[in-house]
Amino acid sequence: MTNGIQPIRGMNDVLPAEIGLWQHLEGALRELVATYGYEEIRVPIVEHTELFKRSIGEFTDIVEKEMYTFTDQGGDSLTLRPETTAGIARAAISNGLLRGQKHKLWCIGPMFRHERPQKGRYRQFHQFDVEALGYEGPDVDAELIVMLARLWRMLGLTRVKLQLNSLGTPAARALYREQLVAYFRGHEAALDTDSRRRLGGNPLRILDSKNPDMQAIIAGAPLIVDHLDLESRAHFETLQAALRAAGIDFVVNPRLVRGLDYYSRTVFEWTTDALGAQDAVCSGGRYDGLIAQLGGEATPAIGFAMGIERVVELLRLANVVPVVRAPDVYLVTQGERAVSAGLALAEQLRDQLPQRRVAFGLGGGNFKAQFRRADRSGARLALVLGDSELERGVIAIKHLRGEANQIECPVAEVSARLEAALKE
Ligand code: ATP
Ligand code: MG
Repeated sequence: MTNGIQPIRGMNDVLPAEIGLWQHLEGALRELVATYGYEEIRVPIVEHTELFKRSIGEFTDIVEKEMYTFTDQGGDSLTLRPETTAGIARAAISNGLLRGQKHKLWCIGPMFRHERPQKGRYRQFHQFDVEALGYEGPDVDAELIVMLARLWRMLGLTRVKLQLNSLGTPAARALYREQLVAYFRGHEAALDTDSRRRLGGNPLRILDSKNPDMQAIIAGAPLIVDHLDLESRAHFETLQAALRAAGIDFVVNPRLVRGLDYYSRTVFEWTTDALGAQDAVCSGGRYDGLIAQLGGEATPAIGFAMGIERVVELLRLANVVPVVRAPDVYLVTQGERAVSAGLALAEQLRDQLPQRRVAFGLGGGNFKAQFRRADRSGARLALVLGDSELERGVIAIKHLRGEANQIECPVAEVSARLEAALKE
């Protein structure tokens, strides 16, 4: 397309030829969360910009440089959601869902971040998101992780590994923060611009830096595990014991801080060695303070988000072949009267055989061309209705796979004959 309208960089179309693995994954996810008692919630794709600034945090990559923010006709600053925990927390508050109640929620949909597009990193991408509101854990922390381990098994994905850390309470974090600032001030000359700016705003973010030149300094920084409050330490230890009891492999990564501000206590990330630089497939953690910070009543909570594109890519690399359901029957017609009789017959069959898929050969054409289309559709049987069949009140049933034989039956018997033939 030279003169036409271009797609937006980093925003992909998912074509029918590619949709099979998406549906396979989405089906598994829906089944999984239903088993564990989660309910679906749908929230808007746009929210007030303020929501993301106050939740994700001002000194994060997302808020500093990745948000799609615009002013609408009414003069409000709105943002396309870069993630959906904030929106779900906002929805729980605006709809009065909390008041001491608990909710186990999930959501799926597009997210928007203005990042540099590359394989596995897009500007519109999709997340599957789970949030448990009102649960203090660590039982729910363990259950979420066990649920994800079950998903990888269901999908046949083996190249995913779990990292865990605890960020402690806000108070423990504040103490740790002081130590971190002191450490990085001692190495200020070696910090990159981003990190220098973050030193004042949120020094924990420096640990999250992806700049290779920063890794040596980060490696020498004090560790948050050494500064955990007693309760957070107990929480973290109980979680680890539960995971060990469930046979879940994990490593504690004391430098895992996650790129968003609202986390406290448990944080985790599943990574893979199969996708190159874009190695995070699913990450999450506790955000016990977020809901109060957004004006709701204090509610402990935990959640995670999974990158759908990255998991789809893992499925593709693992040669998972989605089951694509072809039509069972393909109706071929010839002649004007046969077309209208055929359309009516196809509707009748869809009523009589609701479990079966009936395709109608739209657009007509000669028998040969129509049979080619019927064959390509993957259908097992073709029904043939021409003017001569119409006059005699019969229809032909032709097997398209294996031994091709053709029988004729009265129109009134066709659904029973079809069902019998499909069961053969
Ligand atoms: P990364 O380290 O890859 O930037 P992140 O820490 O920014 O990931 P989160 O905000 O935790 O990611 O989002 C959860 C998941 O969403 C990630 O683990 C990843 O699978 C996926 N994800 C995040 N950003 C993108 C993107 N731009 N394109 C595709 N998937 C993404
Ligand atoms: Mg990121």
